[in-house]
Amino acid sequence: MKLSLRTLAAILVALSVSGCAHSGSPGDHGAGAATAPVTGGDALATLKAGNERFVSGRPLAPATDAETLRVAAEKGQHPFATVLTCSDSRIPVERVFDRGFGEIFVVRVAGNVTSPHETGSVEFSLYKLHVPLLVVMGHTKCGAVQAACAGARVTPNIDSFITSIEPAVQRVRNENPGISSDELEKLAIQENVRQTLRDLYATSPLIREKVSTGAIQVAGAVIDVSNGRVEWFADVPRPDAK
Ligand SMILES: [Zn+2]
Repeated sequence: MKLSLRTLAAILVALSVSGCAHSGSPGDHGAGAATAPVTGGDALATLKAGNERFVSGRPLAPATDAETLRVAAEKGQHPFATVLTCSDSRIPVERVFDRGFGEIFVVRVAGNVTSPHETGSVEFSLYKLHVPLLVVMGHTKCGAVQAACAGARVTPNIDSFITSIEPAVQRVRNENPGISSDELEKLAIQENVRQTLRDLYATSPLIREKVSTGAIQVAGAVIDVSNGRVEWFADVPRPDAK
């Protein structure tokens, strides 16, 4: 199909209006997010505070009204954090961080692994939406990690994410000979978060550059599905680490 220049220009304008390719300034946040954080540190503090509210049973449910959604649709999205996490139905991301429409760019895939589609989604949020914080979040009782610990094989497509997790499982086994199965699962969930960060760095010059220059902040976390509490890592792999 050959597009005329006029048609192409019309498509680009439409994308821009819809917010799909919005490139507004990081500080230009939409309705319901007038006080949205613009630095990675502020964004992380906002997520931590939201999770505290959720866990304590006192959520404010900000930016969850229809008007916020309407304005965000009209003016474009300006999320302050990108969260790559598992598809598990027990971790609705905006709810556990007590945030709403247009605030968190969420990439979900079983086992919170990354392949070109997920990495590209993260890149899009950093490059086009100027998101200042990237979080990779695993969770307790993750079926994908359990399958990797068991060396399970199911279908080629399911196996694709299981095998992406297996290097993390093997690393935990190597570093902890004789480890119990419960402890293996717990540590593998944490190591899989670090592995995903390493995979993002290994396959994305853009993400490496954003992290190395301090343009974005990176965080790792595991959420407990029994109570919604997010435990944040003290440190995470850096692009230059071996
Ligand atoms: Zn999972």
